[in-house]
Amino acid sequence: MIPYGRQDITQADIDAVIEVLESEFLTQGPKVPAFEQAIASKVGASYGVAVNSATSALHIACLALGLGPGDWLWTSPITFVASANCALYCGAQVDFVDIDPCSYNLDPSALEAKLVVAEREGRLPKIVVPVHLSGQPCDMQAIYALAMRYGFKIIEDASHAIGGKYRGEYVGNCRYSDITVFSFHPVKIITAGEGGVATTNDRVLAERMALSRSHGITRDPALMTQVPDGSWYYQQICLGFNYRMTELQAALGISQLKRLDSYIERRHEIAREYEGAFRGLPIVTPVQCSDGYSAYHLYVIRLQLESISLSHKEVFEALRRCGVGVNLHYIPVHIQPYYQKMGYGFGDFPEAEKYYREAISLPMYATLTSEQQTLVVRAVKSAIRLPS
Ligand SMILES: *Cc1c(COP(=O)(O)O)cnc(C)c1O
Repeated sequence: MIPYGRQDITQADIDAVIEVLESEFLTQGPKVPAFEQAIASKVGASYGVAVNSATSALHIACLALGLGPGDWLWTSPITFVASANCALYCGAQVDFVDIDPCSYNLDPSALEAKLVVAEREGRLPKIVVPVHLSGQPCDMQAIYALAMRYGFKIIEDASHAIGGKYRGEYVGNCRYSDITVFSFHPVKIITAGEGGVATTNDRVLAERMALSRSHGITRDPALMTQVPDGSWYYQQICLGFNYRMTELQAALGISQLKRLDSYIERRHEIAREYEGAFRGLPIVTPVQCSDGYSAYHLYVIRLQLESISLSHKEVFEALRRCGVGVNLHYIPVHIQPYYQKMGYGFGDFPEAEKYYREAISLPMYATLTSEQQTLVVRAVKSAIRLPS
């Protein structure tokens, strides 16, 4: 089976991890701060805080921004559940904003319309989480302008978007947000085995996130309530977690980061190949927004079902039978049973639901060979039979 995504591990990556295994520190050593620094300087942010997953990064980002009971967080229904769950961890509530039918990202005009109503009803969101789906940057200028007008904070979920650019600058520089979150799960563009990093330009937010990641404990006398009792001294000054990244993960991440730009270039090459191969077929290929450079974490096609004799499910299963490990990103979060119990359901976000009925993620990763891609294209062409 050709998977929809997979990691690329080189000898240099292996050597970097072995070096850590043979060193003094497996955790809380020099590699984690080096990885944080490398990510922050790559994307152009002042601070990076590394944790054990993007899910943890979203959680501590929400906490740093003061999200709590009585507050609302809004996100896109077309995302992984973690983008929404982070609000529930903080005791806050979640609502959704429908997607733009072209970019599949949170639609700024739907956001504006919902904000107008929410302001009237006195339930404006404290945080909005735009998700750069597939690696394509959201319309951040528009969302940022609304944040200025309505006073909400922004956490970019850039789990798909490391190496992508918005208006010529790397996603993650937080020019139009408070915090950006990256994932280093093996299926993402670069991996640390598991892991996440939150970037920000705000020193206080970075400090708060660093505290939450490790039990709320500090060794910095400037943050303590008294002069340290001695050189052993530390203080717990808030409630935190153990969300730490290991040295092994950080070393792998540092090694992978060196290949980021070449990975993204290769992903664009694969996208151009698909684009050419599918021209004229009843398939909608991904649009590239004019102010963005996608990281192409995913290659999502949408089926024009009225021109195809098979159903969405039949096409999906035909591809799997041909050895193409297609996937579907994502089942709309608001129709997950857990969210339906909160009162959401079918019909609430029609563009997201329409997308779900048509979308298929094709194999997209830097080491996909052109022979494999030819196989994928052939399988798609045979599955998308025109009605007879
Ligand atoms: C993968 C992913 C996450 C969660 O990342 P982890 O590192 O696995 O916790 C969150 N949001 C989106 C959009 C993702 O794709």
